[in-house]
Amino acid sequence: MAIQPIVTFPQPVLRDKAKKVTKFDDELKNLINDMAATMYDAPGVGLAAPQIGVSLQLTVIDTSRNKEERNFLVLANPIIVKGEGEQVDEEGCLSVREYAANVKRYEKIWVEAQDINGEPLKFEAEGFFARVVQHELDHLNGTLFIDHLSSLKRTLYKKKLKKILLEDEQE
Ligand SMILES: [Zn+2]
Repeated sequence: MAIQPIVTFPQPVLRDKAKKVTKFDDELKNLINDMAATMYDAPGVGLAAPQIGVSLQLTVIDTSRNKEERNFLVLANPIIVKGEGEQVDEEGCLSVREYAANVKRYEKIWVEAQDINGEPLKFEAEGFFARVVQHELDHLNGTLFIDHLSSLKRTLYKKKLKKILLEDEQE
C-alpha cells in the first residue's frame, strides 16, 4: 500500500467525468489499496480515484473512524438510484484546501454499485454515511462540494485559495 499525493482544486482531473471501471484485476486492487492508504493517512472518511489523479469511477469509504479495525467500503461504478429527505451539515474535502461549508444532501439514498470483484452491490445509506457517499459520487462526476454553494461563497473561496496558492509560491 502506497500513500499517493492528493490532487487539489483547481486541478482539471477533479472536473472530469470519470471513466467506468471495466477490469476488476490485480491492478485495480492495487489502486484500491493505495486509495485506502491515502484516505487513512489524510485522514479522511472517503476518497475518490480522481483525487489521486486517476479518472475512474471508484471510491473508498470508511465512516467508522475506527483505528483498530479498518474496514472500508469499495464502490465501483456507483449510482444513486433514489434519494429521499434532506440534511444540511458542514462538509469539507481533502481536495478543497482550508475550507468547509454547509451543504444540503439527501437524508437517505439507495445505491447500486459493483464491489472490488465486480459483483453487484445494492444498499441504502442514511445520515452521515449517506452524506459521504453523495460527496464521493459527486467526485466521479467532476463535482466538488463547493459547487453546491452560492456563487458568492464560491467566489469568496476562490479568492481565499488564490492567497493560499500565492503563499505556497513564496515559500
Ligand atoms: Zn471530496
